[in-house]
Amino acid sequence: MKNLFSKKNYKKFSAEYKKNSIPDELIERVYTSRLLGSDPNLVLHGGGNTSVKSVCKDSDGESHKVIYVKGSGWDLSNIEPNGFSAIKITPLIKLLNKENVSDEEMVNFTKKNLIDLSSPNPSVETLVHAIIKDKFVDHTHSNAILEICNRPNGKKLCKDIFGEEFLFVPYVMPGYLLAKKVFELYKEDLNVKGMILYRHGIFTFGDTSEKSYTRMINAVSKAERYIKKQEKNKIVQIKRKKINFSSDEIAPLLRGYLCKRKNYILNFRSSKKILSDINNKNLKSILNRGVITPDHVIRTKPFPMVLNIDNCKSLKMLNKILKNQFKIYCQNYTKYFDDNVKNNKTSILDSIPQIIIVQNLGIFSVGKSLNEAKINGDVSEMSIRTIGKIEENSKFQSIKNQDIFDVEYWSLEQAKIKKNSNSMAGKVVLVTGGAGTIGLATANKFKQNGAEVIILDNDRKKIKDLKILNTFESLYCDVTNRNSFKKAMKKICSTYGGIDILVSNAGIATQSEMINISDKDLLESFNINFFSHHIVASESVKIMKTQDKGGCLLFNISKQSVNPGMNFGSYGTSKAALLALCKQYALEYGKYKIRSNGVNADRIKSGLLTDKMIEKRSKSRNISIENYLKGNLLNTQVFAEDVAEAFYSLSNSEKTTAAILTVDGGNIEASMR
Ligand code: ZN
Repeated sequence: MKNLFSKKNYKKFSAEYKKNSIPDELIERVYTSRLLGSDPNLVLHGGGNTSVKSVCKDSDGESHKVIYVKGSGWDLSNIEPNGFSAIKITPLIKLLNKENVSDEEMVNFTKKNLIDLSSPNPSVETLVHAIIKDKFVDHTHSNAILEICNRPNGKKLCKDIFGEEFLFVPYVMPGYLLAKKVFELYKEDLNVKGMILYRHGIFTFGDTSEKSYTRMINAVSKAERYIKKQEKNKIVQIKRKKINFSSDEIAPLLRGYLCKRKNYILNFRSSKKILSDINNKNLKSILNRGVITPDHVIRTKPFPMVLNIDNCKSLKMLNKILKNQFKIYCQNYTKYFDDNVKNNKTSILDSIPQIIIVQNLGIFSVGKSLNEAKINGDVSEMSIRTIGKIEENSKFQSIKNQDIFDVEYWSLEQAKIKKNSNSMAGKVVLVTGGAGTIGLATANKFKQNGAEVIILDNDRKKIKDLKILNTFESLYCDVTNRNSFKKAMKKICSTYGGIDILVSNAGIATQSEMINISDKDLLESFNINFFSHHIVASESVKIMKTQDKGGCLLFNISKQSVNPGMNFGSYGTSKAALLALCKQYALEYGKYKIRSNGVNADRIKSGLLTDKMIEKRSKSRNISIENYLKGNLLNTQVFAEDVAEAFYSLSNSEKTTAAILTVDGGNIEASMR
């Protein structure tokens, strides 16, 4: 492992912070924390933590000895000085003299001793950092260290490799008990350079950030050298076979089984490396042994679901296999829960797998958002690789199931999980014509409520702008072309697992008197305002039926569908057909709990209703522009956000289908029966 510390780089790095009068030691702390965070072999996604001891003043100007510790929620790779919380260290150390302190009490106590109450919650490993006398303390879950620890002779190996320089700490659950254990062992030998936390990770210390960081790199390199020297056994691989299904075909089936109680996103990944990692013949039994470091359980559950569907020939057969495998997983998880639960106050988490491995295909990871699913996938990919390496020359062993359970059901971790209860969390929403005014307003509305939103549009420039803004996943798609939509759907199923809500919004408006409309223009109008909606609805319904979890189709119709306007025939007639289409879908797919509803909006300034068009339309109705826009019962202008609100409330109206909601400020002629 390369030592990335550079005096030159540090000088450059610190210049900006020095201007903002950040203390030198905290700048140093940020610099080497980022070095650690930049290597996924050391820490992944918020894993690991670092600290520095210092002196600082509180709001009354009183000086205190403090420890700056990484705040939870911060990632070492991009941490800033305000990602560290300063805690008064003297009262913290006194806590260790108590007989027993619950983890909640410890967290409250730590919070009470913060210098600035608005700083983030300090890491649960704060107390361990505080015990160490050295100024700088670094902690990682290095893969190489875990590779050494998680073997039958892990303890002996650690002692052989690190000798007396490192303290060996047997496995104890992170939190107060671990701090107590470290306190007891560290007292015996205050000159150690670091600690190996058995089947958990490594700590290094030093009086400068460079020293502590360098000790980390040196220790990990030592472990790496040992691993390299080992003779490699050849692992028996399953013969590479081409599976009969693609990830996007399997994903909606899996997602259906996953989402029986809650909604989840299902993200797929594969690569040559992954394929070779997951094709071990004994993968299932190996991975059933547990996790390589305790906090992975939050990301991966205690064991993944491992599937081999090499000989499965039809989707029907696949569905049968999956149904059975989910039942088995649920039974095994429930058993694990029952075997380890200690009191009846703890309730079981959703008993679904968080990682699903399909041999010869790749890894599916589950999360309440795409981001969470991807993080879970990263952690799983890395841990499967590390476990595979252990198996090459030894046997993977984990901590006890009871210990894994205690971390998974730790009240502090459970509290984190409960916080995320956004109404649209885990739902996938697709908006066609999504780069336009109404499309964007609708996409925003769903996103604000926690949904994953994908925008489809045929305007490449707008899509590029959206990508630059990094607001939405946006894909190019010509919705009048079935293959173009199918291609987009494949990508969506692989990335998100399927679809829950379709907002079919793409449209075109042309004006002409009936006898003057060219056949080409009328056909084009029907193509976009009617046929494209059928294409996207039919393909979406296929996915929704496969998921077997219901669904929601939302059509942007128009008040023109029931109240035609002069010289607007090509628009009105195609929208009237769209209204019929909306009802037809409601009729045919209600039995699958797929709802179909529409919005009749009117006079909303957008890409369709441009200033020029408004002028023309008001002229054709013989009224002023202002009266045209406000010409409704409520005498008020209607905006794209109002249409978005209507789509959103229809998506939440679980008992409503075949309904049309008007968003026009009130228009008796256009009102529904
Ligand atoms: Zn840790």
